[in-house]
Amino acid sequence: MKKITIIGAGIVGVATAAYLRREGHDVTIVDMRPPGEYTSFGNAGILSPGSCVPIAMPGILKKVPGYLADPMGPLKIRLSYFPQALPWLMRFVGSTSRSKVEYIADALISMLNQTFDAHAPLAQNANCSDIIRKSGYIVVYDTDQAYRNDALAWKLRRDRGVICNEIDAAGIERLVPALGRNYERGVHLPEQGYVINPERLTKTYARQFQQDGGTILQRKVLDIEIGPQGPRAINTDAGRLEVENLVLCAGVHSNEFSSKLGDSVPLEAERGYHVTFSDPSLELPMPVASAQNKFFITPMEMGMRIAGQTEFAGIEAEPDYSRADVLMKHMKRMFPNVREVDATRWMGRRPSMPDSMPVIGRATKFANTYYAFGHGHLGLVGSAPTGRIIADLVAGRQPNIDITPFRPDRF
Ligand SMILES: Cc1cc2nc3c(=O)[nH]c(=O)nc-3n(C[C@H](O)[C@H](O)[C@H](O)COP(=O)(O)OP(=O)(O)OC[C@H]3O[C@@H](n4cnc5c(N)ncnc54)[C@H](O)[C@@H]3O)c2cc1C
Repeated sequence: MKKITIIGAGIVGVATAAYLRREGHDVTIVDMRPPGEYTSFGNAGILSPGSCVPIAMPGILKKVPGYLADPMGPLKIRLSYFPQALPWLMRFVGSTSRSKVEYIADALISMLNQTFDAHAPLAQNANCSDIIRKSGYIVVYDTDQAYRNDALAWKLRRDRGVICNEIDAAGIERLVPALGRNYERGVHLPEQGYVINPERLTKTYARQFQQDGGTILQRKVLDIEIGPQGPRAINTDAGRLEVENLVLCAGVHSNEFSSKLGDSVPLEAERGYHVTFSDPSLELPMPVASAQNKFFITPMEMGMRIAGQTEFAGIEAEPDYSRADVLMKHMKRMFPNVREVDATRWMGRRPSMPDSMPVIGRATKFANTYYAFGHGHLGLVGSAPTGRIIADLVAGRQPNIDITPFRPDRF
């Protein structure tokens, strides 16, 4: 039994804590917020091995000016932040060769394929399996040409065994009648799923972790005290805590600590937005995505949520809710009769690496420190598989997938 401290009570930290506690370790999570109230609060809820395709794809650079010029587009870079984002953006573009995206897709599918299998024991133990739905989802395109422009992304998925059934306008209408015949082309991915409330999932796992003997302390970590063998204490806003083993799951803030431990990584806040329509008078049998406008609409227990957008503005800048308004307009374009009453808007910070892969593994300098952060668009789907990997590493077992692509010193 080891004494383990985890910084971060997002879905990654909580799933990791749950896996470690199952093995009998003495686990404490430290977070200044209650579980699941930062980025893990408001995501689109998608649990999808089909998300193995990196964000940076060949040809992306040519698309960027169009995205930026389009007021309804999916991307915004705040001008004042551009110089700071530039090194990350250059690495992002540097990850777009054909061989690189094949390599990334291989690494991601090996982890994401395990999502249902890795979430199941946590959800069963916490008695919340109802939150996870394996409904499939559909991706729609305005035109057949737009679909063909995405051919490589679909090939990457199909080559890795993801079932992607091409459907026409009539097929789309059959699966999701509310969409009507506005879309020429679609793809149905029947084996993917989603959660009906990402916040409740994180909180329920966290509550069960406490019932199983784990500890959660609501404190802000200010600094890590490092001895010759690695971290030996963390200093928090409520005093010093001794540390024997440390797992860093602080989402977009992780580099503030990993760089102190000798692993400086290119982690950027890829900010996204959602609008949740609490009484939409709309029913969907499964989530719907627009590939061109890069959003998901997910039927959740608290209403219909549209989530997407990528904004580079740094971690601390105030939200720009005009990005959420863009999502609102897309929602109305797709479903003109949706009811807007009590719609709520939210901004979150995806902890993103330029190559779309997380950082998972041991710190390069210290044997008592582990990293589990940087999941970008994939933190929910990747959380439970990541927790299982960290539990393997702590136990000295070989994880059941190759984690070298996720090493902290790859850049
Ligand atoms: C619009 C949007 C849609 C998304 N859709 C999906 C999706 O459909 N599927 C999917 O898999 N992913 C999705 N994501 C991504 C997903 O939400 C994130 O990858 C995930 O929430 C990251 O989880 P995390 O635990 O690493 O980080 P977080 O949830 O951000 O948790 C990190 C925790 O660390 C704590 N922390 C940080 N610094 C300190 C400190 N100094 N002291 C104490 N605590 C600290 C924070 O308070 C926070 O609670 C989406 C994201 C956005 C924004």
